[in-house]
Order: sequence, then C-alpha cells, then structure tokens
Amino acid sequence: APRFFVGGNFKMNGTQTFLRNLIDNLNAGQLDENAEVVIAPPALYLDQCRKQARKEIGVAAQNAFNASSGAYTGEISPEQLKDLGIEWVILGHSERREIFKESDEFVAAKVAFALKSGIKVIACIGEKLNERESGQTFEVVTRQLQAIAKEINDWTNVVIAYEPVWAIGTGKVATPQQAQEVHEYIRKWLRENVSEATAEQTRIIYGGSVNASNAAELAKQKDVDGFLVGGASLKPEFVNIVNARI
Ligand code: 13P
Repeated sequence: APRFFVGGNFKMNGTQTFLRNLIDNLNAGQLDENAEVVIAPPALYLDQCRKQARKEIGVAAQNAFNASSGAYTGEISPEQLKDLGIEWVILGHSERREIFKESDEFVAAKVAFALKSGIKVIACIGEKLNERESGQTFEVVTRQLQAIAKEINDWTNVVIAYEPVWAIGTGKVATPQQAQEVHEYIRKWLRENVSEATAEQTRIIYGGSVNASNAAELAKQKDVDGFLVGGASLKPEFVNIVNARI
C-alpha cells in the first residue's frame, strides 16, 4: 500500500508568530513515522516555515504558475519554490477553481509545469453540491482527471486530493462510504486510463471537514490513503489526524 499522506492546507491564515508556534508544536509532536506530512502555509511564510520545520516534514506552496520567470505580476514559479527548498505545490484547489476561475486546462498546465520543474503536486479535484445532487460526481472528477492526464504521463510525484466542495469548511464531512466510493472510482479510472502501477501507487487522499474525531474511520477505508486538512491543520489536533492510522 502507498505511504499514508497528510497535508495541512493553511489557506490564507497565520502570521509569523502564529506559524512559529504551530510549527514548534508539530516539531515537538510524536508523528507516525509511516505517515508523510506536508504543510502548506501562505506563500509569504514558505521560507520561514521551511527553515523551522523538521526535515521530515514537507512544505508545499498553495499555488504556482506555469512559467519559470517573467512578467507575471503576483505569481510564483516552481523554480522559485525550488530555490527555497519547497518540495510540493497544491494545484487545482476548489477555492482557486471557483474564486479565481481556474479552468481544468489551466490547472492541468500548471500540474505539468510543476512536475517538469521538479516540484511534487497535490492535485485537487471534487464535485460541488449541485453536481453531487444531480448525480454528476463521477462525471466531474473524470473531467478533472482527464484534463490532467492529457498533460502528464508520469504520476509518480502526484498525490490526488479528492475534496468534495460541499464538505470544505462546512463541517459536513463525507461519510467513510461516500469517500471510499469516489476514491475507488478514481483508482479504477487510473487503472483503466493510465496504468495498473499508477493505480496501485498513487495516493488518493480525502479533504473536507476532516478533524481528529472523524479521521480514524475515514483512514480505515481501503482507498483512502490520507487527508488534506484545512481548518484542523491550524490546531493541535492536526497531530492526531497525522496519527489516524495508529
Ligand atoms: P477544511 O478541512 O477546512 O474543510 O478544508 C479542506 C480543504 O480545503 C483542504 O484543502
């Protein structure tokens, strides 16, 4: 089975002092050695967090553009992330798709460019409430996966985060069965459209209102290989989520 993966997406939260305390706590915590832990602070604090966090803790940006440098005001490149020792980037988060109007194609282009630049990717997909209610969940995740599969062949450095939009920041976590059903579908899709090895080895993690109370049940599901945690990653309970399998 692939290595359990827990990401903390801090979104646009934190200050120097808040993050220093948060990472002090993580550095001191007893983290499951079999779990890969990656934290994603706001871009401004990537350097501070990379310098402070223990080596075993990965650091991710929350976005990166698909060019190495140039006239792209406000953007950050994968090359610049590498310059700071940042190993990962989250791409295609639903907040970027919705609020910043990122298309499937733009997300896919950024995924391909980040991988080519040597940055590992947490690629987010997931349906909105109206899409689930109208029975389009598989169709939506298929469309989002297909866009990425058109641009990349090698999924070795990709973690797929299934984040149903209706579960993000709502306190309405998917049931273990709902998560398992979609994760199983994603793995089958990888098997049929990429390769058996990719299906076996790719981490498919769940995101949306994960907390210390619901993580263990979700983590027991066959195709749930970890979590992408928002709100709870800013609290001490993040350590318990990392340790959901022990
Ligand atoms: P919450 O855990 O706050 O619901 O956010 C999930 C998320 O969007 C992680 O990327």
